[in-house]
Amino acid sequence: MSAPDRRRALVLLSGGQDSATCLAWALARYAHVETIGFDYGQRHRAELDCRQRLRAGLQAMPWPGRLGPDHLLTVDVLAQLGGSAMTEEVAIAMQQDGLPNTFVPGRNLLFFTLAAALAYRRGLQVLVGGMSETDYSGYPDCRDNTLKALQVALSLGLERPLTLETPLMWIDKAGTWALAHQLGGGALVELIRRDSHTCYLGQRDRLHGWGYGCGSCPACELRAQGWTQWAEKNRPACA
Ligand code: ZN
Repeated sequence: MSAPDRRRALVLLSGGQDSATCLAWALARYAHVETIGFDYGQRHRAELDCRQRLRAGLQAMPWPGRLGPDHLLTVDVLAQLGGSAMTEEVAIAMQQDGLPNTFVPGRNLLFFTLAAALAYRRGLQVLVGGMSETDYSGYPDCRDNTLKALQVALSLGLERPLTLETPLMWIDKAGTWALAHQLGGGALVELIRRDSHTCYLGQRDRLHGWGYGCGSCPACELRAQGWTQWAEKNRPACA
């Protein structure tokens, strides 16, 4: 294991596959890593329970002493704004503007801004998020340029250099499983498969090959497809 980057990092850990992989990526890279999560009245609150299981599992992985405290912020204001299938019991559908109604306007901008404020208080210099332009639903706040612009705005607004890292920006879900395997082998893949949560509807009553979920919402479909693509090529070799 090479010497870690001495900067201190804060990972946006939702409890999903992407952010869990990002946490492992950060632990492999930085000497000190803290996590932040947001309770915003999401329908898939199951992901909040997954955060602690993922953190516990990652403590046991080969990056001892690097995982620092967790921070959970309550962000009621997003549900108050309303209108998203992520916070309201409405069917997932496409909106007239071409975005699915699972889009929560401003969510990632707000989360990164709150993370930056916490990073300021905690003396952390790097923010890590699982956003991706490859396998996304067209969410404009997951785009590379959005986050690069935000990095500049936050660094200026806080008068403190902040780096926003998005290790999954240009890889798809199959690539995300491959990255997890590269970072922590079969044990990390299994931890993420069982203990991360992706399903928009919050279902965890049935364990599929790719993990828990309803199997039919857009998030489950994407996760299942990526798993199958990765597993077909790699599973026999890494079991
Ligand atoms: Zn689902």
